[in-house]
Amino acid sequence: MVIKEAKFITSNTRADLCPQTELPEYAFIGRSNVGKSSLINMLTNRLKLAKTSSFPGKTQLINHFLINDNWYLVDLPGYGWAKVSKDSREQWRKMIMYYLKNRPNLACVFVLIDSRLPPQKVDLDFMELLGTMGVPFVLIFTKTDKQSGTKTDANIAFYLKTLQDTWEELPMYMKSSSATKEGRDEILQFISDVNQR
Ligand code: GDP
Repeated sequence: MVIKEAKFITSNTRADLCPQTELPEYAFIGRSNVGKSSLINMLTNRLKLAKTSSFPGKTQLINHFLINDNWYLVDLPGYGWAKVSKDSREQWRKMIMYYLKNRPNLACVFVLIDSRLPPQKVDLDFMELLGTMGVPFVLIFTKTDKQSGTKTDANIAFYLKTLQDTWEELPMYMKSSSATKEGRDEILQFISDVNQR
């Protein structure tokens, strides 16, 4: 897929204020610093479409971008900030649950995972939430340029093995690097395929 146009549309804290649309949308989420903003900028070929690493405590927003007038890319607020209060965590949870429940056009959530780390509880819990709510998701293992391909593959194999303990069927996964653009074609092709279904 060629990205001809990527337009910022809205920032919201509430799903009912997100664009009213029947166009499909694809949401990106992950722990803070996982490389979500960099990935969104890499996918859209825009240097600063998504703002990198906004600090915790700032309003957490759901950002909608319209791509090629054909689908929405959604930047969801990340989780797992170390120093976030219980109240903010609860607020985040409510906002995300509400979003997941109230976007019938949500085609897929991309859950970003740092390809160098062992499985983190906060990510596994989030996948569990998606599963409970019946939301389709795909894993993206980020920052693959930071270590050898062999290490990345071994880490992913270990990750999937851990998931096997709780999941009957393993989620689809892809690898990405904002530095080398690994994963760009595959992710955009996946979106293009789902859009055509
Ligand atoms: P976010 O908090 O998930 O939006 O993460 P950011 O996109 O802001 O990235 C966090 C940090 O990791 C920044 O310093 C990025 O430059 C760096 N980073 C993100 N993706 C990659 C990647 O694919 N490769 C490398 N080497 N660094 C990355």
